[in-house]
Amino acid sequence: EINKNEDERNKADGENSDDAPEQFSPAEASLLQKIIRKGLVESKTDLEIQRKDPNSPLYSVKSFDALHLKPNLLKGVYEMGFNAPSKIQETALPTLLADPPQNLIAQSQSGTGKTAAFVLAMLSRVKPELRYPQVLCLSPTYELAIQTGEVAAHMAKFCPEIELRYAVRGEEVAKNTKLTEHIIIGTPGKVLDWGLKYRVFDLSKITVFVLDEADVMIATQGHQDQCIRIHKTLSKECQMMFFSATYNEDVMNFAEIIVPRPLIIRLKREEESLNNIKQYYVRCSNQQEKYSAVTNIYGTVGVGQAIIFCHTRRTANWLAEKMTKDGHAVAVLTGELSVEQRINVLDRFRNGTEKVLITTNVLSRGIDVEQVTIVVNFDLPVDVEGKADCETYLHRIGRTGRFGKHGIAINLVDSPASMLICQSIEKHFNRKINYLNAEDSDEIE
Ligand code: ADP
Repeated sequence: EINKNEDERNKADGENSDDAPEQFSPAEASLLQKIIRKGLVESKTDLEIQRKDPNSPLYSVKSFDALHLKPNLLKGVYEMGFNAPSKIQETALPTLLADPPQNLIAQSQSGTGKTAAFVLAMLSRVKPELRYPQVLCLSPTYELAIQTGEVAAHMAKFCPEIELRYAVRGEEVAKNTKLTEHIIIGTPGKVLDWGLKYRVFDLSKITVFVLDEADVMIATQGHQDQCIRIHKTLSKECQMMFFSATYNEDVMNFAEIIVPRPLIIRLKREEESLNNIKQYYVRCSNQQEKYSAVTNIYGTVGVGQAIIFCHTRRTANWLAEKMTKDGHAVAVLTGELSVEQRINVLDRFRNGTEKVLITTNVLSRGIDVEQVTIVVNFDLPVDVEGKADCETYLHRIGRTGRFGKHGIAINLVDSPASMLICQSIEKHFNRKINYLNAEDSDEIE
């Protein structure tokens, strides 16, 4: 599933998809995560720094003023509400803005300030008097390219002389013309077309090359090769910047091809844990009893909010419809929603308009909604073989150090098979999952 491109996935999304376990593509998940996270993710872990060139000095800044930006660009940064650089920006920005330019590989989870860092570097390197593309940023999808472009437009609010062009689906150029915009943000296929087939801009004149979301790029069929083909046409002096939310061998091998003599900075993501989470299971003999258990739990939720995970879209929709009919205000998030609908649902939930969010696995990561106190597994997470999926369980239930608050996890068990799954999760984490009588709401606290 992961390796298919968007069109193929849409085709595969046939009539029976309501009953299939739901999974977003890495690109969709990344976009959702960007949208859900409105602010910066603070990290308590330390930055890991590796230098291939020990002669290059290493700087770090504690303020944007110390970067000696063009005044209008600095104004744009403050206008965005940024007071001080984030943890990775403290080290990434001096490197990205250094003269002579230095190459950078940066890996940190979504929300830690990577995009803001490279957008600032892109804008700062532009020579507006030169009327041709000088900065090229590759994103894996249309939506992600637009997200980045919007950050650039916002930050360049007081630099109207800097122009940006999207090289994405739907954008066309006439052959035999030359682009005059300074920055191109696009997807690999379109950039190849424009740069090599139609030659509407000169790839060898690019001075800053950004490869964003490298891990998502790798997960999309054909993208990695296209990126490498583009990269081959760049000049030796071009500054290379490479970003990824995750770090593994494939990502590192890709980075080695793209970025010579880099500074590598990594910020390890904080581990999720089940500390501070009280885990329970409820015995039910059928779907109807599961429903009753949910409404009993719902009745006790009080101030906090709850998220209910179902295995399939069909169950999620069934549950939502039934609860709505019974007069409960619930929100549903499944893969069938459009991007706008997903944003809308999440905004309403975050604002507390709805106290309960019913969803599938599409949301097991990235839901740092602080006020969520109860997570209900309407269906326990299983892998393709039907075995306990402990990793997904941890993503659904676990919290990172940032949200040290107490939480409650309730697992609905409706068969001997699901009891076994529950037991293997208990064993895996070596943490007791206690029996809960859902009829007796006093037991839930
Ligand atoms: P990433 O690319 O790592 O996902 P972003 O650059 O998109 O991270 O930043 C995540 C969020 O934090 C965005 O909403 C962004 O506007 C905000 N942000 C980024 N840098 C700062 C900063 N220095 N101060 C405050 N907010 C910031």
